[in-house]
Amino acid sequence: MQSCLRVAAAAALIAVAPLAFVQAAPAAKPVAETVLFNDSHFHLTNYVQQGTPIRDYLAIMGDKIGRSTLFGIPLQQQWDFANTGNFAPTYYLQSDAPLYYYSFTDAYIAMQYLSLAPAERARLDPMITGFDPADMYAVDHIRRVLTTFPGVFSGIGEFSIHKEFVSAKIAGGPASLTNPALDRVLDFAGEAGLVVILHNDIDAPFAKGDSLPNSLTQMRDLLLRHPRTTIIWAHTGLGRIVKPVPTSAGAEYGGHSLTHLDIMEHLLENPALRHVYLDISWDEVAKYAVASPESIARTAAFINAHPDRILFGTDNVAPKDQATQLRVFDMWKPVFDLLTPEASYAVRIGNYNRLFDKARLDVRKWEKANVATVKASK
Ligand SMILES: [Zn+2]
Repeated sequence: MQSCLRVAAAAALIAVAPLAFVQAAPAAKPVAETVLFNDSHFHLTNYVQQGTPIRDYLAIMGDKIGRSTLFGIPLQQQWDFANTGNFAPTYYLQSDAPLYYYSFTDAYIAMQYLSLAPAERARLDPMITGFDPADMYAVDHIRRVLTTFPGVFSGIGEFSIHKEFVSAKIAGGPASLTNPALDRVLDFAGEAGLVVILHNDIDAPFAKGDSLPNSLTQMRDLLLRHPRTTIIWAHTGLGRIVKPVPTSAGAEYGGHSLTHLDIMEHLLENPALRHVYLDISWDEVAKYAVASPESIARTAAFINAHPDRILFGTDNVAPKDQATQLRVFDMWKPVFDLLTPEASYAVRIGNYNRLFDKARLDVRKWEKANVATVKASK
């Protein structure tokens, strides 16, 4: 199975290679010296669809954040009077009422983006999130967003499959890594050139590490099934209480105990998973990385060994000022200080530019071939 996929992956690489020469990538502009990072994981709005006005966000980026992804949150926390009375919850932990998919988020993000001047737009990569990955019609929503707002989106996500506290609250039931609806979404993302940011907890909360997590093996199999799709695994699978615990790995890995970084190492070294990237966004992830001198050294060594596969992001939600926006970046300083200059640049800036520049070209090409108004105008 694996060798089949490897062959398929190699064939896919050969098949797409000539396309890279059809349209030259935009000339790389020199990055201003003041730029600290590009934000590969940023939520403009929160769980009740409120957030930072787009012009305020550009001011927050200022000269410190070069480029940024731009997405809302696909799930809306219901304000259920029977559950919380007059208290209006703004976060999923503040109510027992369900979360539901709020597809209008995509129109909102598109309109915010389109309200900007071209030079301002050039700094942003909007993402589609407002679909239910457990619905076989999800892919139709994504296609409809692209055809309604051509010239806007670079990817899909962040959307979640398994997420602590969240999955069980979703109206209509949770998503699954084995649901063909998700395969349809990832197939289409590959076809259209959309970058995917996927949140999937690597394990259950409070895991004991006594066996390889089901969520990890299913995730690996999912990634293997989609070699033509660029997929960023958000937060390397970690969460608030999904911790990097050593796991007894079973026969497949020689019976050894694996640390979280060992598991990530196996993933990145698998030649059939060259299309997979990791983001180290979220202050909850930073806290594990900088927990001790040993964790700092191990994390830095891991990043130095795989500089082209890891992207920095904040995972901030609707920030009010630049200090808030830079906080997660500052938390990572002890690790970044140990990176080679090349690795540091790649993780903070270079990988974002490479992945999202390609996505912009590919998605515009798909729109040119598939959207009537774009076909007519060019
Ligand atoms: Zn996020």
